[in-house]
Amino acid sequence: MKPFVPRRVLFEERALDYELGRNLVSTFRKMGIETSKIASHNRVTGIPGKTASEAYREGKRTLVIGVRKEKEFQTCKPSAHYQLPIVTGCSGMCEYCYLATNLGKKPYIRIYVNIEEVLGITKQLIQERIPETTLFEGSAVSDPVPVERYTGLLGTTIDFFAREEFARFRFVTKFTDIDGLLGIEHNGHTTIRFSINTQKVIEKYEHATPSADERIAAARKVFESGYPLGFLIAPIMYYPGWEEDYEKLIKDVSQTFRDFSPEQKGEISFELISHRYTNRAKTNILEVFPHTDLSMEEGERKYKYGQFGYGKFIYRPDIMQTMQTSLLSCLNQHLPEARVLYFV
Ligand code: SF4
Repeated sequence: MKPFVPRRVLFEERALDYELGRNLVSTFRKMGIETSKIASHNRVTGIPGKTASEAYREGKRTLVIGVRKEKEFQTCKPSAHYQLPIVTGCSGMCEYCYLATNLGKKPYIRIYVNIEEVLGITKQLIQERIPETTLFEGSAVSDPVPVERYTGLLGTTIDFFAREEFARFRFVTKFTDIDGLLGIEHNGHTTIRFSINTQKVIEKYEHATPSADERIAAARKVFESGYPLGFLIAPIMYYPGWEEDYEKLIKDVSQTFRDFSPEQKGEISFELISHRYTNRAKTNILEVFPHTDLSMEEGERKYKYGQFGYGKFIYRPDIMQTMQTSLLSCLNQHLPEARVLYFV
């Protein structure tokens, strides 16, 4: 898949006070990409789009370069202690994107150039919890990989965490542009996880993202470089032929990692997440992708009440049980050493 190239770049004037900000603006200008100044990275104007679907697509091709002023980090329970704010948004166009309800009608990608300040706050938060280990999540509101080739923000962050005894960093991606991360001294303190799915699901719903094969190949490179590695199979979809397709996916992973020892394979984790949606997500999806054939049939679903007052539609218990049994037995057969962390 071709690397992400923005159609337009919007930058805050203050971003030019930072070397990274100046370099980025100059790089994009040299590439012939339209660059314009904006007053604030929170009030972004200048992204076209008359219909919901056009606004969405233009947003996805817009890169905003900003300076993060807030000194607080959001918490990230239950998977980590804090979100690490380096990038928001993503160039992918997955119909069921978990960020879709938070990023607004024009979901631009935003990066922060004051990484040293962000890591300074990170350091304080780590120190406050010593001797406990503090976990930071780098993809709570983004897929940070597509812009990494320009920013190097993940690389800088991985390098920072390598030297932190009492902290760990992790992020998840569907992208494969990770070669720049391979040579970094990470000290095993950063876990990289790849979100994978059957090729049929990727082709139908995960627009502008790499194929399953490309993701698995990238995962292998990351593993060869000694990074702790995980796979998220998500969202698991129930459709005619699903069982064979997920078995093929798991076999492909198993084949790709066949030459590693059982001990090494025992380090690979799997998280299994079935498809779910909220009413709000369904409305958004139908607005942006009016011709979607994403199954959101309430007959197949059970409504599960959420802790924040809004619930979600998960698969019926009998379907969930079938999926869980099938995937666990398949993993057990083809990758018995791998650690399955959970199925939801
Ligand atoms: S790759 Fe992830 S973050 Fe990006 S659009 Fe798809 S689901 Fe959303």
